[in-house]
Amino acid sequence: MPSPTTMPSNVDTYSSKYEKQRLQALANYQVLDTPEESAFDEIVEVASIICEAPISVVNFVDRDRQWFKSEKGLGVRETPLDVSICKHAILQPGLFIVPDTTQDPRFANNPLVTGKPHLRFYAGALLESHDGYPLGTLCVLDYQPRELTERQCFALQALANQVMAHLELMLAHREQAELILELKTTRHELAKRAATDPLTGLLNRRDFEQRLNQELALIQRGAPPAALILIDLDHFKKVNDTLGHQAGDNVLLRFTELCREAFRQSDVIGRWGGEEFVVMLPGSSLAEAQQAAERFHELLATTPMLEDTSPPLYITASAGVCSLTGSSTLDECLLRADELLYQAKEQGRNRTVCEEQ
Ligand code: GH3
Ligand code: MG
Ligand code: MG
Repeated sequence: MPSPTTMPSNVDTYSSKYEKQRLQALANYQVLDTPEESAFDEIVEVASIICEAPISVVNFVDRDRQWFKSEKGLGVRETPLDVSICKHAILQPGLFIVPDTTQDPRFANNPLVTGKPHLRFYAGALLESHDGYPLGTLCVLDYQPRELTERQCFALQALANQVMAHLELMLAHREQAELILELKTTRHELAKRAATDPLTGLLNRRDFEQRLNQELALIQRGAPPAALILIDLDHFKKVNDTLGHQAGDNVLLRFTELCREAFRQSDVIGRWGGEEFVVMLPGSSLAEAQQAAERFHELLATTPMLEDTSPPLYITASAGVCSLTGSSTLDECLLRADELLYQAKEQGRNRTVCEEQ
């Protein structure tokens, strides 16, 4: 869009070399082809009353038509541009008045003048965008030749300014709504990012605990108990020490993929910290959870953790399984899982120790 110094505003005639920008400015208001609205209908009514004219229109000059946001006395919402008087009106600032169309060579042969509705008088006040583009007019028309008084001229332009003020408000409102939506999306995205572990994309400890609390509340209100599996990679330090930290990270990523593969969609997986993972299996018994853990051990035993190591790198993990019931607190349950995991390590790793049924 040109800067205000190159604007067509405040010059005697509007140059059509700005037509593309003008149409863009009009499009920005998103007013074309919108339904009738009382705010504009009332302005048209007041213009008609003050100017004592049977016809009044809020008119926007589009690419090849003039479109009426509101009209009184015409009975149509648009006409082609070649019969438009307004397209002449927008070529100059302020008011454009044709006291008698039959006496004006530009309009004498206009079919709306020579035929129905036989328009004889036209007065249009410019509707100008905030950046100086002429968009249309608020105009009044009559079937006889006439003039407007000075007060009527003033009122017509003041009402035209109100049309634009209203459009500007609607635009600002729309922009604000878009901004609010954007903010909400960003906030949602940030909350999601804060809840997930940056390396694996799994829930982090804090949010996993929150999810556990929700589940526990459901269980206390009668939902079936859930099972909890705490998993720790065996001798993971050695992976880092021999292959480097980056390789260690890749192993953790592969491990995450295998968790997602081994457990059900409805199971909730979290990164408890470092090389410790936690899985909550809603509605699962201890036996089901133990089966799932065994499946996971098998998957680990048959899946190389890195693509490019020779020999292929396999890892094992140890796990503790306990149930999440309404009769114990979350801390008690987590402590139990930790103890069971410790037992698995003590018993030689690469195994799952399950709470007694
Ligand atoms: P254990 O079988 O007893 O669990 O032995 P371990 O080596 O797995 O346990 P230890 O606690 O001695 O070491 C855990 C290692 O995990 C040490 C730490 O550097 C590594 N680790 C923790 N988080 C990350 C991570 O995000 N990336 C990488 N690459 N390593 C990590
Ligand atoms: Mg550990
Ligand atoms: Mg470990």
